[in-house]
Amino acid sequence: MKLTERQGYIVDIVKERGPISGDDIAGILDLARGTIRNDLSVLTMLGYLDARPKVGYYYKGDPEKIHVRDILESISVEEVMSVPVVLDEKMSVYDVICSIFLENIGTIFITKDGYLVGCVSRKDLLRSAIGKVDLEKTPISLIMTRMPNIITIGPEDSIYTACVKIEKGEIDALPVVEGDDRLKVVGRITKTNINRLMVDLGGEDER
Ligand code: ADP
Repeated sequence: MKLTERQGYIVDIVKERGPISGDDIAGILDLARGTIRNDLSVLTMLGYLDARPKVGYYYKGDPEKIHVRDILESISVEEVMSVPVVLDEKMSVYDVICSIFLENIGTIFITKDGYLVGCVSRKDLLRSAIGKVDLEKTPISLIMTRMPNIITIGPEDSIYTACVKIEKGEIDALPVVEGDDRLKVVGRITKTNINRLMVDLGGEDER
């Protein structure tokens, strides 16, 4: 539901100054308390504001955003992740380039003795290909982004957490890992998984 201009102002006032009494809100708007009574009820009913006796009105959040967040927080990474493509750190850059084409993916996770030590993206591979290195003789460990700089996620974490990590890290994919010290890669979450989830949530196949 679209808020009126005055309701929008009230939300802004409470966001900035809450907790605040109805009288003080009316005072700031230069209106009588009775004039904004309906607006305050509507905003409380819609979930933007809440009121505590003797404390006043405080801001709860944009209910539409809270709804989307609740949905994304209720879905676990495990439900959405796909099978990871994992290669050993001794593989050559050339072999990893071949795998990226064969597997049709953008990010490969690199392991040593089966545990996560790094990752490589398409751009990492392009960068090494335009350098003067011998791609067949250079081990992937020389060009990968390495631990502890890898951003990871657990299978039981929420998809919302995954989205935030991808956004803040400015990356395309997260390895889904298990373990405390040494990490086993059990899946991957990419922007493609998240896009597919959005299409599913939007009910595209029900049209
Ligand atoms: P591209 O470079 O192909 O656009 P990304 O944006 O995913 O792909 O990668 C950007 C950089 O971040 C690359 O150097 C890559 O090695 C690194 N990177 C990719 N995924 C991760 C991750 N999960 N954690 C840390 N670094 C990552």
